Amino acid sequence: MDEQKVKEEIVEIATRCYDRGLLVAGDGNISVRVAPNRIVSTPSGVSKGWMKPEMMVVVDIDGNPLEPSHLRVSSEWPMHRVIYQARPDINAVVHAHPPYATGFAVAGLSLSKAILSEVVLTLGCAPLAAYGTPSTRELTDAIEPYLEFHDALLMANHGAVAYADTLEKAFNKLETLEHTCKISFIARSLGNENTIPDRAVEKLFEIRERNGAMRPEARAGQVCSYTPGDNSDGAAGRRRDGENEQVTLTRAELVELLVESARLFQ
Ligand SMILES: [Zn+2]
Repeated sequence: MDEQKVKEEIVEIATRCYDRGLLVAGDGNISVRVAPNRIVSTPSGVSKGWMKPEMMVVVDIDGNPLEPSHLRVSSEWPMHRVIYQARPDINAVVHAHPPYATGFAVAGLSLSKAILSEVVLTLGCAPLAAYGTPSTRELTDAIEPYLEFHDALLMANHGAVAYADTLEKAFNKLETLEHTCKISFIARSLGNENTIPDRAVEKLFEIRERNGAMRPEARAGQVCSYTPGDNSDGAAGRRRDGENEQVTLTRAELVELLVESARLFQ
């Protein structure tokens, strides 16, 4: 793989992330695995809007430098490492703090409803990993259970990460995640978020499996409100979809509910 070209591509994607407001200042980090134990990464503490290819750092899987540089790899490197270790098929990781996706992560919401057919076909759902202090085991332990079947994650009170076999695809997944969170936010603001019926979701599953976009195991493996698996007691950190969902009641409905509850406990 042409490493110089990879460095230029990372700068291009980083600039795109910055220009689209998916991150600001020194936020986020991007890496590409060019060989099993050789990864090119954005450096620590540099704005993604002002980077140059020669600023990229080359590290091994543990983040140790493989080329001399006055810049260090990001302190969030353990997040990249756990993804590369869990998924041999992944060669690129893009982590950012996109405002809508991060808004979901701050509000305690996952992106787990079947609201857009093309998102079910390409990305599936993006679960919300529990909060973990950046650069520590807490964060990697929180995301690790979701890595096998999801290609994009929300991280509570932090941001989002997407990964794929190529850098362009990883960026596309992050962009799709952000765009879908934005649409979901608008639908919720308008007062209703309708979902695609189960039978139609079934057809979408068949199409995405036929196209090779996702393995059949992802149906049960993904933590979605529309996947058939029982995701409530799976790997550590999983939580049932809707746990943090808000419910709106009229005053009359609330009074009726309270009266009914009081009657039951008499
Ligand atoms: Zn971050």
